[in-house]
Amino acid sequence: MEEKGLLIVLSGPSGVGKGTVRKAIFDQPDVNFEYSISATSRKPREGEVHGVDYFFKSREQFEDMIANDELLEHAEYVGNYYGTPIEYVKKTLEEGKDVFLEIEVQGAKQVRDKFPDGLFIFLAPPSLKELENRIVTRGTETDELIRNRMKAAREEIEMMNLYDYVVENDRVEHACERINAIVVAEHLRRERV
Ligand code: 5GP
Repeated sequence: MEEKGLLIVLSGPSGVGKGTVRKAIFDQPDVNFEYSISATSRKPREGEVHGVDYFFKSREQFEDMIANDELLEHAEYVGNYYGTPIEYVKKTLEEGKDVFLEIEVQGAKQVRDKFPDGLFIFLAPPSLKELENRIVTRGTETDELIRNRMKAAREEIEMMNLYDYVVENDRVEHACERINAIVVAEHLRRERV
């Protein structure tokens, strides 16, 4: 059988804690996944670094990437573009390594079409109220942005059943453990078929 890595897609509503869970996963001592850094036209937040958190692009640069087919998927989310550079993903999977994407749901749907064998994990909030609290207490957004993000979150939660697994993010450590366990189990399952 062809030796290829697993494409792991972590998605779910913004504010659910995808970024925090992803960072916790990559802070583990022996991580076996390669993180695919996304491109975005959003401005960097305080402390964010180009090439670490995102590849920060202008809208024009991003539109060039779309036109040149450089993205595996892309979405416009709350007024900004986000997308996954395809080259890194392809190359790393070919090397037999697992690639980890942390993206919003429109993008995850596009990846599902192109990589039906990917492993799709939906990170769910314990409740929508809890999600709102998290977005508000993060304090980086205006009222209008909070309303937009909540609207997007309600629509996103309805898409949960398109995923292979749903992981509740009650606590970051628990979510991490569950994701690790799912990946280990999936590798074993796939080796047997
Ligand atoms: P933030 O602006 O809070 O960093 O991210 C906003 C949303 O964009 C989050 O839900 C995040 O997961 C998502 N996102 C980050 N990178 C990508 C990407 O490459 N593609 C897509 N479709 N969404 C992304």
